[in-house]
Amino acid sequence: MGKRTKQYKKLMRAFQLLGFREPYQLLMTSDIILDTLKLDLMALFEKTLSTKNLKPMITQCCIRALYAKNVGPNRDPAAAAAIDRAKTFERRRCGHLMDEDPLTERECMLSVVDPKGKGENKFRYVVATQDEWLRERLRSVVPTPLMYVRRSVMILEPMSSSSARAREREERSK
Ligand SMILES: [Zn+2]
Repeated sequence: MGKRTKQYKKLMRAFQLLGFREPYQLLMTSDIILDTLKLDLMALFEKTLSTKNLKPMITQCCIRALYAKNVGPNRDPAAAAAIDRAKTFERRRCGHLMDEDPLTERECMLSVVDPKGKGENKFRYVVATQDEWLRERLRSVVPTPLMYVRRSVMILEPMSSSSARAREREERSK
């Protein structure tokens, strides 16, 4: 077993102590789908998380962002393929579609992961996003495993200091 595989297994065991269970709910934004069209995205997730027991999900707002990239003179030629791939994932009903003022992916993700704005990942989502701003923001929403792809390699971030503090509290309470 590779060094990184071991490291990631250990990390996910630490998240399991904080309430994560398989199948992991894998919530992703449109950018990671667009960036990995030439790769087997699910195989990357399975390898990184050392399990095939995964539930890939995308919110209504994030898939709508893909549809928005597929229209008009500046349409992204990769958008149609990304939509096809996104359709194979479970649609997370975020309930934002009816709003007159649509939410950005960032706003949508924050409201789905931390619905009460208390800095808690209530439903224990694993978040995969290429958006550095969003990952930075979610480091203080605990506990949240954060993933992204760089140069065709999937990265699972080390546990954030906020999540690590939550784990310490959890261990002390036993
Ligand atoms: Zn939404």
